[in-house]
Amino acid sequence: AYAPELAPAADQTRQPFDPYRIKRDFPILQQQVHGKPLIWLDNAATTQKPQAVIDRLSHFYEYENSNIHRAAHALAARSTDAYEAAREKVRRFLKAPSARDIVFVRGATEGINLVAQAWGRRNVREGDEIVVSWLEHHANIVPWQMLCAEKGARLRVAPVDDRGQLILEEYEKLLNEKTKIVAMTQVSNALGTVTPVREITAMAHRHGACVLIDGAQSVSHMPVDVQSIDCDFFIFSGHKVFGPTGIGVVYGKAQVLEHMPPWQGGGNMIADVTFEKTVYQGAPERFEAGTGNIADAVGLGAALDYVEGVGMEVIARYEHDLLVYATEKMRMVPGLTFIGTAAEKASVLSFVLEGRNTQDVGKALDREGIAVRAGHHCAQPILRRFGLEATVRPSLAFYNTCADVDALVAALLKLQRG
Ligand code: PLP
Repeated sequence: AYAPELAPAADQTRQPFDPYRIKRDFPILQQQVHGKPLIWLDNAATTQKPQAVIDRLSHFYEYENSNIHRAAHALAARSTDAYEAAREKVRRFLKAPSARDIVFVRGATEGINLVAQAWGRRNVREGDEIVVSWLEHHANIVPWQMLCAEKGARLRVAPVDDRGQLILEEYEKLLNEKTKIVAMTQVSNALGTVTPVREITAMAHRHGACVLIDGAQSVSHMPVDVQSIDCDFFIFSGHKVFGPTGIGVVYGKAQVLEHMPPWQGGGNMIADVTFEKTVYQGAPERFEAGTGNIADAVGLGAALDYVEGVGMEVIARYEHDLLVYATEKMRMVPGLTFIGTAAEKASVLSFVLEGRNTQDVGKALDREGIAVRAGHHCAQPILRRFGLEATVRPSLAFYNTCADVDALVAALLKLQRG
C-alpha cells in the first residue's frame, strides 16, 4: 500500500555513536573485494548509500513516480509532494530561511556553472575580477575561466601556505571595487583543508562582492548554516552526502535569486509563453527547466534524514577523532609524506610514498580490498603548488572505523617492506 513517507531512519542521536552500527546500514560495504572485506576510503570521490536511501528510491518508483506539477492526478500529487518535501529537507539541512532559496541541479558542477552563467553573465563585465583560491576543484575554476574569457574579466587566485592553508591577508589584498564574485571551497578535496568561510564571506562583502561557497566536500563532515556563513550561494552534490548521483543543490539568497535571469529555457520554468514574450516563474522553478531528477531529489531527502538522525555535530566530532588517529598511525609508515597539513582539516589524508608511483600504491591497496583515489583529484593547480602531479588520497566518512585505518596502515607497511 502507498505510504506517503517511509518511516524516517531511527533517531540515533540518543544512542552512543557506533560506526559499526552505521556501517551495517550500508549494504555495499558488506561485500568482499579481491577476497578481502571492502574498505571504502574514497569518500571524497563519492559516498555509499544507506539502505534507507535505496528503499526510498524503490518506494518512489513503486508508488509515486509521475512528472511533477503538471498533471492533476493522484501520482502527480504524490511525486510533487515528495519532491517538495525533499526541498524542505535540504532547506533544514543548510538552515536556509526558505525552501524557495533551494534550487535542484544535477550536481555541484552544474550548480557552479548555473551561477557562473546566469548570475555571472548579468553581473560581470570587462575589467571586473573574480577571486578563487589555489585550493579549488576544477569545477570551481573552469566555469569562472570561461566567464572571464567571454567577458574580458580577470581571474585572481588567493594563495595558500606550505601547509595548504588559505593566507587570509593575501586573499584580502586581492579584493577591491572590481571584485564581483569570490568563489571558494569550504573543504579542499585534494588536501582536506577547511577554509574560514565566514571570514572569507565577510571580507568579500566589505568590498561589495558576491560570495559562492563550494560545499561539495564539507556537507557530509560538518554542520553547515548558510545564514551564519552569510554567503550568497552555497553549492553541493547529493552523491557526496550519501544520496544518489545526478542530484545537487544551489542555495541562493532570495534577493540574489530574484534578480538572477534564467539559465536554461523550457518547460517548468515559465509562467506564460507566447511567441512574442515569455514570462518566467520565480525561484526556484525559474532555474529548473525541464523534468528534473525527481526520484534522486527524493533520495537526497532520505540521505539528509539519515545523517541528521545521527547528528552532524556527532559525525563531525567522531570524524575529527578518526582523522587524528589516522594521521598519527600513518606517520609510522616509512617514507610517507602528507600533502596538506592544515590545522583544520576534514576527511582527506593525501600523501606520497617515497620511491613509489601513486598509481601503484592505489593498485596495491585495491588488492587488499581498500579503495582510495590515486591521481590529481581534479585539482591540478593545488597539487602543482606542492610540485606534484598526483597523490594517494584516502578520505574518511562516518562509517569508517579505526580498524579500517589499521588495515590501510598495515597494507602500506606491507608495501614498503616489499
Ligand atoms: N567541488 C569540490 C570541492 C569537489 O570535490 C567536487 C567533486 O569532487 C566538485 C566540486 C564537483 O562535484 P560533482 O562532480 O559532483 O559535480
